[in-house]
Amino acid sequence: SLTQRLSGTIERLRGRGRLTEENIRESLREVRIALLEADVALPVVQALVERIKVRAVGQEVLKSLTPGQALIKVVRDELTTVMGAAAADLNLNVPAPAVVLMAGLQGAGKTTTVAKLAKHLKERRKKKVMVVSADVYRPAAIEQLKTLAQQVDVLWFPSDPSQKPEAIVRAAIDDARKSFADVLIVDTAGRTSIDEAMMREIQALHAAVSPVETLFVVDSMTGQDAAVTAKHFGEALPLTGVVLTKTDGDARGGAALSVRYITGKPIKFIGTGEKPDGLDVFHPDRVASRILDMGDVLSLVEQVEQQVDKDKAAKLAEKVAKGKRFNLEDMRDQLEQMQNMGGLHGLMDKLPGMGQVPEHLKNQVTGKEVPRMMAIIGSMTPKERRNPHLLNGSRRARIARGSGTSPADVNKLLKQFQQMEKMMGKLAGGGMKGLMRGMKG
Ligand code: GDP
Ligand code: MG
Repeated sequence: SLTQRLSGTIERLRGRGRLTEENIRESLREVRIALLEADVALPVVQALVERIKVRAVGQEVLKSLTPGQALIKVVRDELTTVMGAAAADLNLNVPAPAVVLMAGLQGAGKTTTVAKLAKHLKERRKKKVMVVSADVYRPAAIEQLKTLAQQVDVLWFPSDPSQKPEAIVRAAIDDARKSFADVLIVDTAGRTSIDEAMMREIQALHAAVSPVETLFVVDSMTGQDAAVTAKHFGEALPLTGVVLTKTDGDARGGAALSVRYITGKPIKFIGTGEKPDGLDVFHPDRVASRILDMGDVLSLVEQVEQQVDKDKAAKLAEKVAKGKRFNLEDMRDQLEQMQNMGGLHGLMDKLPGMGQVPEHLKNQVTGKEVPRMMAIIGSMTPKERRNPHLLNGSRRARIARGSGTSPADVNKLLKQFQQMEKMMGKLAGGGMKGLMRGMKG
């Protein structure tokens, strides 16, 4: 999954201040592979990766984010944009009967979806619904719709297969009007593959009955082919929306992204089973998350963040557990981390143990003071750093001179050290668990 793929590159992106073509190249490659693995059509993958790149490059990384997180945010935002806002339900805002035309290849799930939509409109929107089949080639298709209509208890118009689809639907519209039906859902014939005759037929039907909704029904399991089919239908008909069927059998979900991107039309519903109740409204954010495991990616980013801290905390905890005391080298490590992270007050909370540092102390060790503290510790001998009790008056004076500070500064640092040491001792008292509890996040 993208989660696993990005975990490595995220780590490598840490500590960069700005996203560049260079430093996101590897991550973009992972995004591309993840999209392909989700069965998103190649041209769509290329377009998406390009969009993500354009948006990402040059972007400043917010102080609160690592560049890896910043990139993931771009990926997520871009996918959400492409998937669009949650689709509205069917538009029935026309004089009755509102005609809903279904289009798609044979086996896509049109007839099944007619029954599902009829049930949905009847139960959820309290509409009186009639269905009709314009599939004049297969008498069995007309029978199939009749059975389904009875099952969901909606009106069914008996088609005369000797007539043209337009004539059948015109007759059905008349009948629907007389029956005071609010909606007429029109099932159509599909072929096993795109051909001119089929396209001409459905175009003629569309022109004759001017539907308020023209829904493209597509099998999500066809993956890459779904994109090709969508392109043809989208060019032949003014689609108002898409129904993505058989999502119950599709683990990858790339078809949704492809079809949405290629047609530019909202996915209004998804099929989630063979039964008439197997219909769901489409949640773009949810599907985007499923496709790319985005929810996991975001929590992964947090985990990576915590992990880095945890590793250091674990080391420190191990040391404390072994009875070794917190010394000035440990303090320097922590100051260094702080500097790497920008040395800002808020970031201190992320350092191991810092969650328990009193506010006034946090304030002391932010900003310009950190480099000075580092300089002071740098002027000590390794032995002094490991054994702070050695630091008598003359050593302190030497360190002040060596670091270009005053003895008062050195004393202040040692005081801060003692406060930290005390805190570490408290944590050590609580053992490893205490230290972990003390960590934020
Ligand atoms: P049509 O040729 O486009 O009218 O397709 P049908 O409605 O006859 O459906 C073709 C097959 O797909 C049937 O076996 C349906 O039961 C099945 N089908 C349709 N929608 C779904 C769905 O959302 N989930 C599952 N699992 N099967 C579906
Ligand atoms: Mg059918």
